[in-house]
Amino acid sequence: MWAYRDALPVPDGAEPVSLGEGGTPLINAIKIAERAGLKELYVKYEGTNPTGSFKDRGMTVGVTIAKLVGAEAIVVASTGNTSSSAAAYAARAGIKSIVILPKGKVAKGKLSQSILHGSFIIEVEGSFDDALKAVMKIAKETGKVYPLNSFNPWRLEGQKTIAYEIVAQLQRVPDAIVVPVGNAGNISAIWKGFKELKEWGIISKLPRMYGAQAKGAAPIARMFEYGQRDFSPVNNPETIATAIRIGNPVNWPKAVRAVRESGGTVISVTDEEIMKAQEDLARLEGIGVEPASAASIAALRRLRELGHLRESDITVAIATGHALKDPDAASSRQVPKYSVKNHEDAVKAILRVIGHA
Ligand SMILES: *Cc1c(COP(=O)(O)O)cnc(C)c1O
Repeated sequence: MWAYRDALPVPDGAEPVSLGEGGTPLINAIKIAERAGLKELYVKYEGTNPTGSFKDRGMTVGVTIAKLVGAEAIVVASTGNTSSSAAAYAARAGIKSIVILPKGKVAKGKLSQSILHGSFIIEVEGSFDDALKAVMKIAKETGKVYPLNSFNPWRLEGQKTIAYEIVAQLQRVPDAIVVPVGNAGNISAIWKGFKELKEWGIISKLPRMYGAQAKGAAPIARMFEYGQRDFSPVNNPETIATAIRIGNPVNWPKAVRAVRESGGTVISVTDEEIMKAQEDLARLEGIGVEPASAASIAALRRLRELGHLRESDITVAIATGHALKDPDAASSRQVPKYSVKNHEDAVKAILRVIGHA
């Protein structure tokens, strides 16, 4: 795409480590829009990236740089998706990946990707925040292992392409962007992308940025909801949306700046609202996302009620990761189900379902 290559400030001589990331669909979600009281809503479906989340956009750049500087291994702390992505791109680059995960809190699909691609896995008692401490420390102490969490600016450079694509696909600038917020890198990166397009004279206005956090892991939302001036971390973050189960987001200052500059806000949504939004998106629009991604959909109605979103606002919700990432969450609900012994009984069951028997 036009802005893509020129906008990523990768040094000369770097050979891109790529799996064809980006270029994700922007889907017009008419029924969800109606329910949320919006005229126009689009879902940027990041689940279609090579490893199933937007993390691939940053990882392609990060691993390209790791290879350029001759790193022997990359290391990431992760709630799951960063490790999936790191595992695949490291494999592609022919370097080792070491992933540090909160024990027992990583969704099955994500863990299986790290295993498949051959990562070295370290499970730590505690949360993502504990895992990240290890990365910060090792990054300072040795030059051989390259840290690729979202404090690494190359990751955010890659992720800003979400903004470029939205403008290219919509052929205009939306009024509002709604993003699930965990470590707060992505919302900062997307804002950077829009600001660049404006600086270059490609667009003439900017969207408002809205963040959605899970209620049990909402240190940034708390600042906005209760008007707290100072940041304080959440010590034992808890939510079904494991990708955003982060109590001490490293990029909080950048995210707060982005949201304030843009005229947006950050709100929190309950696990119940998240699960309902996941189901609505899947059943009304056919878009399968993991729970964290559904936080942006869950936030729409509240943002409308609070008057942050107007009916006429052209809104884009970022669906950050694929439903298959978390098969347990996806299958945690009821559908009509028959068990039959043979094909004749199966035929009878079908006829019963369609109401002919
Ligand atoms: C990483 C991730 C997030 C959170 O993004 P941050 O940049 O950490 O705020 C949200 N949803 C999914 C599916 C993710 O993988």
